[in-house]
Amino acid sequence: MTSTSTAHVHAAQASSAPASDAPAEVSTADGRDGWQSRLRGRGYRLTPQRQLVLEAVATLGHATPEAIVTEVRRTATAVNISTVYRTLDLLEELGLVSHAHLTHGAPTYHVAGQDRHIHLVCGGCGTISELSPDRLAGLVDALREELGFTVNVDHVALAGRCADCSARAHG
Ligand SMILES: [Zn+2]
Ligand SMILES: [Zn+2]
Ligand SMILES: [Zn+2]
Repeated sequence: MTSTSTAHVHAAQASSAPASDAPAEVSTADGRDGWQSRLRGRGYRLTPQRQLVLEAVATLGHATPEAIVTEVRRTATAVNISTVYRTLDLLEELGLVSHAHLTHGAPTYHVAGQDRHIHLVCGGCGTISELSPDRLAGLVDALREELGFTVNVDHVALAGRCADCSARAHG
């Protein structure tokens, strides 16, 4: 898949970052052929059930374990939520998925290797917008230089109000 993939669809507004902000690194982790050959290269095979979980993450975009188990059950009705949690942990260890914390609830999973992004989450309407990590580069660089601290800007979300909800609150 490319950066124009539909696998990472959001509820509403897409990123407002200009195309020139897109990272130069090209993902090789996306797509069935990509991750399957990567795993084969490491002598690892995904069981059909684990493969279903991975495909559900790819289909859903920002997916909670609850949403993933619902998606997986469309094919494999016996799968339960604890199996999905265990499988997500395994897939994350294998570098196939990553997670971020967008709400107070369960973490949200992404297929790894997609463009890294900062999440802006509106507390009013729930809209998730994406920003290029470059937008926080000044802060990230300063923290590294001053404190030796490396920030994972895509691990958490910035909470707030989107433009529409802000306008409603003040109008
Ligand atoms: Zn995201
Ligand atoms: Zn976490
Ligand atoms: Zn909003």
